[in-house]
Amino acid sequence: MNNISTTPSLVDQFGRVVDYIRLSITDRCDFRCVYCMGEDMTFSPRNEVLSLEECARLVRVFVGLGVSKVRITGGEPLVRKNALWLFEDIGQLKGLNELVLTTNGSQLEKQAIDLKKAGVKRINISLDSLNAARFKKITRTGELNKVLAGIQAAKQAGFDNIKLNTVLMRGFNNDETVSLVNFAIEQEIDISFIEEMPLGEVDHARGNTFVSNDDTLKLLQSKHTLIGSSETTGGPARYWRVANSQTKIGFISPHSHNFCESCNRVRITCKGELYLCLGQEDKIQLMPLLRHHPHNDEPLIAAILNSMKIKPKGHDFDLRRTAPAVIRFMSHTGG
Ligand code: SAM
Ligand code: SF4
Repeated sequence: MNNISTTPSLVDQFGRVVDYIRLSITDRCDFRCVYCMGEDMTFSPRNEVLSLEECARLVRVFVGLGVSKVRITGGEPLVRKNALWLFEDIGQLKGLNELVLTTNGSQLEKQAIDLKKAGVKRINISLDSLNAARFKKITRTGELNKVLAGIQAAKQAGFDNIKLNTVLMRGFNNDETVSLVNFAIEQEIDISFIEEMPLGEVDHARGNTFVSNDDTLKLLQSKHTLIGSSETTGGPARYWRVANSQTKIGFISPHSHNFCESCNRVRITCKGELYLCLGQEDKIQLMPLLRHHPHNDEPLIAAILNSMKIKPKGHDFDLRRTAPAVIRFMSHTGG
């Protein structure tokens, strides 16, 4: 591979340095979470999806351009055949300080130890309910027990950090806010609440199920002593420490607190589309550059550098609109 620079090259028109990529390695998933997908999904044909080698090449190129953090996501990344190969391949890459993973946890019982060995530092596991029947209703196909076993396996594997991701929805799981936090405290892990985002057409009106993180914070403050933390991942989450515990609570609030001014990331879909913003359509296609120039990274590098000029100022989510802000599902872009 050519062109490995050491200084950050990815700076957008607003002066934001991009040093974090989220790479979706599949749009497929063994769950069909109601806020994320429709019940009947058509997934991308295999030949339109990046090979694992192409994923590894992209990560190398981005790291060469100053990216130091990579999150592998999906769809469900761990249902992709041989996903572990990718983690092993990029896990030891010089300059990649943080290799992290977002997963629904269903495959973790089998894979946690190997992922840790491959170099995954931190892991986010989605968990929206502690009630098996409800968990099934929200995920449509998921088994709570498998995910709980996955969380235990992740704890045993010894990742630097484990964080639960919860999307609260009125009428689905908002009455479990406190029990989910208490579970995180018992398990000595962190938890983040993500406000539901209007991505893709789903079966419910998102305006009706929306739960504001401001309300969630107020509720939790009435149950626990929360200490504001200045900790930041350079991203959207604001953190609070729960007094007398190991647990931090994060709030990812695209509606109640816009987070775009400090955005440091871009997203790459499993089809090689580089999206400059989760909530906008601006993108460039990396797949043709990968496939037409298998041994020359220069066209790819030039296109990535150029893309910084079209990174939008911010998203434009508005739950009062009936139509989704963007047509593609979160599972397409990679959460
Ligand atoms: N399958 C993995 C999982 O569920 O963790 C990784 C991909 S998933 C798209 C990444 C994260 O996006 C999950 O935490 C999920 O809860 C969240 N998510 C999906 N659709 C969302 C939406 N419409 N609004 C907010 N969060 C969403
Ligand atoms: Fe699958 Fe994750 Fe979307 Fe749920 S949130 S359907 S687990 S990709």
